[in-house]
Amino acid sequence: MAATRRPGRNHLFIPGPTNIPERVLRAMHVPSEDHRSPSFPELVKPLLQDSKMVFGSTNGTVILFPSSGTGIWESALSNTLCRGDKVLTARYGQFSHLWVDMAQRLGLDVIVQDEEWGAGADPQKIEEALRADKDHAIKAVMVVHNETATGVTSDIGAVRKAIDAAGHPALLFVDGISSIGSLPFYMDDWKVDCAIAGSQKGFMLPAGLGLICISPKALKIAEGGTGRNDRLGHAYFAWKDQLAANATGYFPYTPVLPLLYGLREALAIVKEEGLENVYHRHHVLGEATRQAVAAWGLKPCAKEPKWNSDTVTAIVVPEGADAAKVITHAYERYNLSLGAGLSKVAGKVFRIGHLGDLNELSLLGAIAGAEMAMLDCGIKVTPGSGVAAASSYLRENPLHKA
Ligand code: PLP
Repeated sequence: MAATRRPGRNHLFIPGPTNIPERVLRAMHVPSEDHRSPSFPELVKPLLQDSKMVFGSTNGTVILFPSSGTGIWESALSNTLCRGDKVLTARYGQFSHLWVDMAQRLGLDVIVQDEEWGAGADPQKIEEALRADKDHAIKAVMVVHNETATGVTSDIGAVRKAIDAAGHPALLFVDGISSIGSLPFYMDDWKVDCAIAGSQKGFMLPAGLGLICISPKALKIAEGGTGRNDRLGHAYFAWKDQLAANATGYFPYTPVLPLLYGLREALAIVKEEGLENVYHRHHVLGEATRQAVAAWGLKPCAKEPKWNSDTVTAIVVPEGADAAKVITHAYERYNLSLGAGLSKVAGKVFRIGHLGDLNELSLLGAIAGAEMAMLDCGIKVTPGSGVAAASSYLRENPLHKA
């Protein structure tokens, strides 16, 4: 009789949702409660303050929406911009593409700087476009910090410098969905106006909680500071309703209670590890993955080392091989979930997500599984080479600085 049970754990190495720590799972195991009770603000108020740390902000205001990250994109655009406003963005992967698509569908006039998939936002081109915009028609610059589809991280500090060098007042919106909580993110220093995050990546929670940190400048515009009256429509995603309810520790509608308890525990975990340690750990695990890729004789999708992401590596399979087959085989044979290639890179890459709650040995499990799956699918990598390279690197480079 064929066994229906799959022994052991699924090795989840997609770039989100990520593995949920046991502590967070337990914290979410709560009975329903009255979200209008007198004690509810004791849960909510600290969350709104404490989550700012992960954004690198003390000046910002956090709102927690019952939504995935995509909804938070929409909230950033719809609360600050007017119909027909110009926005400037760079597109270099599926998620930066989808943000363009949303902005267009909402009725914005989107200036797109297309970059090769495998590269990131070009601060110089952004500066040039802003310098050319003499009458300041561009109202916002939108950048995906970590393009999860290609494993590329853009330099947001450099984008900020470009905006300042051009002397341009545009808002800066950053999608940090696969970076915030894993990669260094300094919202206040970079003067980011809307930083967008989702619960299912660095926050180590299930999907369903969208987080946005809003600068005082963006809040003022949302409150009607420019006097414009042709705002993009919004209702469910209105910041105003959230802020009014949050001021007393409540929400304008029914919150996702288990996720709030989970967030409280996840933030406690991040505090215990220390954000700088979290960033360092992600760097070490990212580099170990890249060492494995090099030992296999393969290349990451990221075109230059400066674009390498420490949360996800997209690995290009050799010409003629099908990355989708590797992913299916890894799942069926080894119970390993690898990330699929999306859109333009479908079939050409598979992705190893190395973000969230993981350590050396969990990563090595994914590298071993990817190696075995590639070999089974006829991709000629040297057996054991990726594991050997990654493990040597990991032995020499502790996850945390002493
Ligand atoms: N932006 C980036 C960079 C992402 O990685 C994702 C999801 O993977 C999204 C946006 C979409 O977020 P969500 O699926 O939470 O709506």
